Amino acid sequence: ENKKSLNFIEEIVENDLREGKNGGRVQTRFPPEPNGYLHIGHAKAICLDFGIAEKYGGICNLRFDDTNPVKEDVEYVDSIMEDIRWLGFQWENVYYASDYFQQLWDFAVKLIKEGKAYVDEQSAEEIAKQKGTPTQPGINSPYRDRPVEESLELFYKMNSGEIPEGKMVLRAKIDMSSPNMHLRDPIMYRIIHLPHHRTGTKWKAYPMYDFAHGQCDYFEGVTHSLCTLEFVPHRPLYDWFIDQLADGDYRPRQIEFNRLNMTYTVMSKRKLLQLVQEKRVSGWDDPRMPTLCGLRRRGYTPQSIRNFIDDIGYTRYEAIIDVSLLEHSIREDLNKKDIRVSGVLDPIKLIITNYPEGKEETVTAVNNPEDETMGTREVMFSRELWIERDDFMENPPKKYFRLTPGNEVRLKNAYIVKCTGCKKDENGNVVEVYAEYDPTTRSGMPNANRKVKGTIHWVSVPHSLDAEVRLFDRLFLAENPGEEKDKDFKELLNPNSLIVKKNCKIEMYLKDAQPFDSFQFQRIGYFNVDPDSTKDHLIFNRTVALKDSWSK
Ligand code: ATP
Ligand code: MG
Ligand code: MG
Repeated sequence: ENKKSLNFIEEIVENDLREGKNGGRVQTRFPPEPNGYLHIGHAKAICLDFGIAEKYGGICNLRFDDTNPVKEDVEYVDSIMEDIRWLGFQWENVYYASDYFQQLWDFAVKLIKEGKAYVDEQSAEEIAKQKGTPTQPGINSPYRDRPVEESLELFYKMNSGEIPEGKMVLRAKIDMSSPNMHLRDPIMYRIIHLPHHRTGTKWKAYPMYDFAHGQCDYFEGVTHSLCTLEFVPHRPLYDWFIDQLADGDYRPRQIEFNRLNMTYTVMSKRKLLQLVQEKRVSGWDDPRMPTLCGLRRRGYTPQSIRNFIDDIGYTRYEAIIDVSLLEHSIREDLNKKDIRVSGVLDPIKLIITNYPEGKEETVTAVNNPEDETMGTREVMFSRELWIERDDFMENPPKKYFRLTPGNEVRLKNAYIVKCTGCKKDENGNVVEVYAEYDPTTRSGMPNANRKVKGTIHWVSVPHSLDAEVRLFDRLFLAENPGEEKDKDFKELLNPNSLIVKKNCKIEMYLKDAQPFDSFQFQRIGYFNVDPDSTKDHLIFNRTVALKDSWSK
């Protein structure tokens, strides 16, 4: 079925299965830290973690990596679950790293007793200074060889609340001259006197990521622990801890892939949180945010995101993906799914002077030319129509095929009209445009197929609704806003990333549109109904323009 060649992770998994490793089991996990909302980078990890389990008949668990009570919150736990489900994945079990605090503690005690861990009473700065450099060995801590009983006693005190934060840490005793800096007696536990969102005040000593992650994988039975490339240098430490812990053949294996970076986007939860806290955006779900809830509100479909992730693939090299690829993906998806409607963003009135006053008729519109099964609908036509202001020009440049005095255009799904002039106000602004129609050019009439160069869209004035339309542009002006030297990423925000149009005109068909419904406004783009929208005040978000019109 799947003609695409295997990615390097699938090759590893298939090879492990052939060799019968871990009893032929495949088990993965998605391990978010509940300290922010998921972004499109996480979608890449989710598609891989769940996708590999699905493809090889295994399971994928959701594990909240909640080892740092300083930044974590239940609000984030709930949103993470919602976003994973929205993408179309279902975990087997939900686990929390904090569920393993006791097991991790017991393992740490075991390492102390075996002389493989010790309590260090130096400050963080002191410890950092002794680390050395990649080319120079570090210096042993004066506490490195203290008696086991002393470390044990102090480790219990670290957790009882009697030792202030920052006064002691537990370190693994590995090798202060290892070429791998992570093996130079890494910190396993530090003291935090803050209640944890799940374990309350039970613990005061909290495990570091490196001490928790691999062991959690082991306790759960993970076979392939997939993570991003920045963890490559952590892998020897991951394996070192597992070697101390494992007593059979089973070993979880860490495999690293390239993270998703995207142009004109920041992709770090810390930075996204700053945008939210400083009110540079309206919230985590602002349609300009790269969060999954932001993309959802913008009108992105789960399918478009999954197709995009599939297209960019998984490699072992860092790269930056052009955001226009993501935009291409949503265009492709909505092109197949969306009904074509008429919306006029910058309206001016067109009066057909030879069309009888008071008359109205229906014309037939094809719902989606890409999909015949979506059928047709009837649209009201009358003497007065709203058209786009820039579809009329009194003195046009060459090759302008829209309305200009003496020129003919087709009104989409209706008649050919010839422009006869316009009316201006005292400042010379055009306020009305005039035309005469050819009654023989409607579909089904003898001249229906007469060719004219331009076709424009319209909405019948007495059959139109008012709407607010929100147009979005890229949130940042710089291609790589997170990486500009000497510049804070917030200085690179695009001041015009949101343009609100208050008096748009849309066809009556949209009167019952519900939040998250999506439509193509013909000739303009794809739009979806914002959750702020009400029956009396319809609000549409532009998901993406019809064509890639971004100019640098
Ligand atoms: P951030 O740097 O945005 O805070 P994080 O890595 O700290 O992200 P976690 O909650 O720890 O966020 O991430 C959960 C999983 O998602 C991890 O396995 C991580 O490797 C993966 N992940 C995070 N960001 C990306 C990304 N941009 N591309 C691919 N995978 C990612
Ligand atoms: Mg992380
Ligand atoms: Mg993080």
